[in-house]
Amino acid sequence: MSDAETIRENIATVRGRIAAACERSGRDPASVRLLLATKTIPPERIRVAIEAGETLVAENRVQEVRPKFEALADLEYERHFIGHLQSNKINALVPYVSCIQTLDRLSLARKLQSRLEREGETREVLVQVNTSGEESKAGLEPDQLAEFIREAAAFDALRIRGLMTIGLNAEPEVARPSLALLKTLAGQVEQLGLDGVEMKELSMGMTGDLEVAVEEGSTIVRVGSAIFGSRPAPI
Ligand SMILES: *Cc1c(COP(=O)(O)O)cnc(C)c1O
Repeated sequence: MSDAETIRENIATVRGRIAAACERSGRDPASVRLLLATKTIPPERIRVAIEAGETLVAENRVQEVRPKFEALADLEYERHFIGHLQSNKINALVPYVSCIQTLDRLSLARKLQSRLEREGETREVLVQVNTSGEESKAGLEPDQLAEFIREAAAFDALRIRGLMTIGLNAEPEVARPSLALLKTLAGQVEQLGLDGVEMKELSMGMTGDLEVAVEEGSTIVRVGSAIFGSRPAPI
């Protein structure tokens, strides 16, 4: 099989996994979007997936964003950012993405606001939460979330649309509580009734735990290796 055929077949397999998880949990498959996590993947391979009908792509590293954007400029698709964002990279990122899924500190929110305000623009953001309690994971602690969102809601160039998490790195059933927690937290934020804050997106689930994430309410599953194969080195 050619590499392009493999990518197309892998997409069909992942879509089947999402559909089966939706069926088990009584959800409409249209309520779950598949996001291609394309760190380290060259644009020619991403192109195959977009031409096969995929519409949502995200990078982790700012330096990969613009070259891939330029190589795929003839295609229509939505671009998000899912990596850790350093403040000094904001200007190199913002022109190329519609949503930053990894807002995790007020200093970043403030700098994004000032850059966007200057241009008269807005961006969607998701707030990243550390639901697994692992030291190595980025994101706000669950008990800091409400206070953070109250303050971040004041930055009106940032459209807060939901939450994002990386579940516990473990067997899917062991990861389940960390994924379920994200939905609980989104419900608590909704109760705050803050102007301009919506909790409609829950970005969770990856190659290893996407079924459990869908069962626990994910609206965006972020999949890399199940579609493009294993990456050369972990990042
Ligand atoms: C790499 C990555 C993914 C996808 O991981 P896979 O296990 O390859 O599916 C999802 N989310 C984030 C934030 C990532 O960095």
